[in-house]
Amino acid sequence: MARRKAALVTGSTSGIGLAIAMRLAADGYNIMLNSLEPEEQITGAISAVKKVAKGGVAYIQADLALEQGTDLVIDTIAHFGRIDVLVNNAGIQKVSRIEDFLQEDWEHVRAIILDGAFHTIRAAVPDMLSRKWGRIINIASAHALVASPFKSAYVAAKHGLLGLTKTVALEVAESSITVNAICPGYVFTPLVEKQMKDQAQVHAMSEDQVRRNIMLAPQPTKQFVQVEEIASMASYLCGDMARSITGTSIAIDGGWTAH
Ligand code: NAD
Repeated sequence: MARRKAALVTGSTSGIGLAIAMRLAADGYNIMLNSLEPEEQITGAISAVKKVAKGGVAYIQADLALEQGTDLVIDTIAHFGRIDVLVNNAGIQKVSRIEDFLQEDWEHVRAIILDGAFHTIRAAVPDMLSRKWGRIINIASAHALVASPFKSAYVAAKHGLLGLTKTVALEVAESSITVNAICPGYVFTPLVEKQMKDQAQVHAMSEDQVRRNIMLAPQPTKQFVQVEEIASMASYLCGDMARSITGTSIAIDGGWTAH
């Protein structure tokens, strides 16, 4: 019997990553979950994925800011025997004026979003090349395509992630490996909930004003994107009908980047 394909989703115990993990688990992939937290703190997320899974579900705690992405991929291959789908989803946000931006915050954002994806991709590609099939999906952002004030590190890292996406796509195109970036607008997740407080402080507004005047202002639909919409696109990109979609950015942003 052919072995089940395996997918690693980074930052997958919350928000978008959890929704993608649940969708790919329901699609039949063996799923490696990852986040920063010790396993006993995220049992709810792990059981939610197990409930819908058709294959195996496992969890590895790893901090992508500490260059643990390579080991994460190696351990995923050791556990499931292969890696077919890599979703680089882990990310954080820091909001501050450029002149006040702490170097450690700049480095932390870049280390997770950009360096983290570099390490996991570099480690996963040889295994994908060996079977001549793979899907790499980088969860970038509308901020990989356009900027907003006070988010210098995040915007720079996400633009960089798009550059990495395009470059790797060219290198592996002849081996049926696709590499794409999904670029969501505002999706209501714990990351955005926390950001609402930070934005309220930096803009001297209430959280409700931030929601209406800052977050949903550039999103013409005036609605948050749902995590399932992102998960559904990830699932589609993993299918054979998406084999010619590579090296591109797919905006799911309620029209934001049409401005
Ligand atoms: P979230 O805060 O709900 O989840 C982030 C996940 O990443 C968590 O599981 C967390 O444990 C993990 N993580 C954080 N730091 C990590 C580290 N150092 N090592 C390993 N894991 C780590 O966030 P979310 O809103 O679901 O965002 C997921 C991705 O989507 C991020 O890359 C984010 O930039 C991107 N994104 C989010 C939005 C949005 O509006 N929510 C919009 C565009 C892009």
